Amino acid sequence: MPKNRKDNWFFTALLIAGLFLILLPARSSAGVFKKKSVVMGTDLEMIVSSTDEAKADKAFASVENEMKRIEDEMSEWKEKTFVSAINNNAGIRAVSVPSDLFKVIWAAVTVSKLTDGAFDITWASMRGVWDFSPGHERVPSASEVKERLKLVDYRDIVLDEKKNTVFLKRKGMAIGLGAIAKGYAVDRATQILAKEGIRDSIVKAGGDMRVQGLDNGKPWEIGIKHPRKKELLAKFGLTNVSVSTSGDYERFFIKDNVLYHHIIDPRTGFPARGAMSVTVLAPDTMTSDALSTALFVLGPDKGLELANKLNGVEAIIVDASGKMRISPGITLK
Ligand code: AMP
Ligand code: MG
Repeated sequence: MPKNRKDNWFFTALLIAGLFLILLPARSSAGVFKKKSVVMGTDLEMIVSSTDEAKADKAFASVENEMKRIEDEMSEWKEKTFVSAINNNAGIRAVSVPSDLFKVIWAAVTVSKLTDGAFDITWASMRGVWDFSPGHERVPSASEVKERLKLVDYRDIVLDEKKNTVFLKRKGMAIGLGAIAKGYAVDRATQILAKEGIRDSIVKAGGDMRVQGLDNGKPWEIGIKHPRKKELLAKFGLTNVSVSTSGDYERFFIKDNVLYHHIIDPRTGFPARGAMSVTVLAPDTMTSDALSTALFVLGPDKGLELANKLNGVEAIIVDASGKMRISPGITLK
């Protein structure tokens, strides 16, 4: 898949430094409406440019409903979801799933193949070994990790395209879509806004963002902050692109001076150590979401090499020493 630089014109943006996406305060011009809520266990923020506030409110409500629907289908934490059914039937039988869930799992496996398993939704087979929730933090022993790691292997996910079924080959295996489902949900949100007549919007769920259309005729301004510092260090003017950030500071704890975070390297079973933060720009948010996590695990050298191979994909990586590395389609100011 050779890279076509013409696809990347919109990335020739203003970048100063730094990393994690934040929305800059929208201009106070009339016709910009905002909504904040919590869905899929994360902060959802929508900003739309519209002439009609009632239309914006209706669209916001439709998006929230859709996100709740996706959570009820794809969460690995709720009991009655299809993902839980897949996990509960690991080693027993294939489970028939809705077509959008099948599509997300298919995309996840595609990214696993592309990254030689650095991205792997069966990381969830390690549930309980690691715990990052406040008050329950735990560092497992190397032998415990080694034992459970045997269950982590995307090649043991059996997908039947004709029947839309998913089967995990071995008992004890589990999948978790924490690195990809939010991106899919953000894409759905943007589609719903468009269907409701809103063409200019930003939808941001946690670290995953879709920037669609324009802000009063100009590209939307997106800010990025450094993974270790408070201040805003980067600014982009963007349109029609998805931006996702994975960081070691999102879910973590520190024990004996070591930072343990939630992005697990399937080769070791321990938190990936190559980066502090990875931002990926891609044509859609499911892709940017999966790739930001994948590149985080791959680390800066291999991560940038992969970004460079993929059409419409750019990356900004803060490596483990705090140095920023960027793919060639991004121009530093
Ligand atoms: P993100 O914030 O999109 O990078 O997603 C991080 C989440 O992805 C974690 O909280 C886990 O739920 C999940 N995860 C951790 N390690 C991996 C991995 N190697 N491949 C896929 N998902 C992972
Ligand atoms: Mg991700």
